[in-house]
Amino acid sequence: MKLALVGIGKIAVDQHVPAISSSPDWELAATVSRHGGVDGVEGFTDLKTMLDERPDIRVVSLCLPPVPRFDYAMTALGAGRHVMLEKPPGATLAECHALEAEARASGLTIYATWHSRHADMVAAAKAWLSDKQLKSLQVTWKEDVRRWHPGQAWIWEPGGLGVFDPGINALSIVTEILPDPIHVTEADLEIPSNCQTPIAARVTFHHPSGARISAVFDWRQEGHQTWDIIAETDAGTLKLSEGGARMEVDGTASGEAAPLSGEYPRLYDRLAALVKQGDIEMDLRPMTLVTDALALGRRISTDPFHE
Ligand code: NAP
Repeated sequence: MKLALVGIGKIAVDQHVPAISSSPDWELAATVSRHGGVDGVEGFTDLKTMLDERPDIRVVSLCLPPVPRFDYAMTALGAGRHVMLEKPPGATLAECHALEAEARASGLTIYATWHSRHADMVAAAKAWLSDKQLKSLQVTWKEDVRRWHPGQAWIWEPGGLGVFDPGINALSIVTEILPDPIHVTEADLEIPSNCQTPIAARVTFHHPSGARISAVFDWRQEGHQTWDIIAETDAGTLKLSEGGARMEVDGTASGEAAPLSGEYPRLYDRLAALVKQGDIEMDLRPMTLVTDALALGRRISTDPFHE
């Protein structure tokens, strides 16, 4: 199937282009970018022109930051194309609901991707937790913003999510592996005095059986990067580390990796299935947790951020 990639920035180049190139299902038939492109692929600077001139391309994958994404997604759906959304699926929940309603009304696929859910050991962790009694779960997601988001001003602007841009990846795993629903009860947000979004956050959650659930997100960690989820249960302690790539139970490596290799090849495999079946996948739980943390969070002003 032919696909167009829109927004040729960091994640498009690092992950989408290689995953599409190695996929048996997809052909990268066009790009839409205001100043970039992919060698050997027809490039457009404007989405509407691409949709008009390439009716053979039925699927559009959007790799833009969250704020401009809604208009692009609506334009693609309006032109009868199936749409894949990078995470987070929009700048607000209302936008996401509107996109889903439009796709449903038009009989089109819309796919809100959560790439971290496709890390090697997430499915194994979900299976292991499915019959355990949860006592506590702690997320520790600490990384260096200068290393992972060089020159990206949008992450500090309204709608950019700040440290929740990576934090939502952790929450996408948590909502996938826990059998029970959780919701935010409290949050502290540390916001640099020259920015609109948090550089660090602590969040606590309600769990229906009273398990203690909390998360710490911090973008100021240099050196070793930490992407850990530790779940204490009645039958042992599960540790998912390296962003879901490694799983241990009581200190011993455990579980089998998911089929295929890599988060983005798995996303494009899933997209192929959704388009073939005419299905929609729009799980907004990670985004609900983040928007609730931003709604409930106590704002703490901290040192200005300079790249
Ligand atoms: P990025 O490199 O800063 O931006 C991606 C592209 O979006 C830009 O190159 C630009 O494309 C387009 N764009 C930016 N602002 C725009 C605007 N106002 N209007 C229209 N187009 C605009 O960002 P990224 O890191 O690739 O992230 C994009 C999305 O992927 C985000 O939602 C992010 O959360 C997600 N993501 C990022 C990573 C990562 O490691 N960076 C990992 C997983 C997911 P053109 O110049 O081509 O027009």
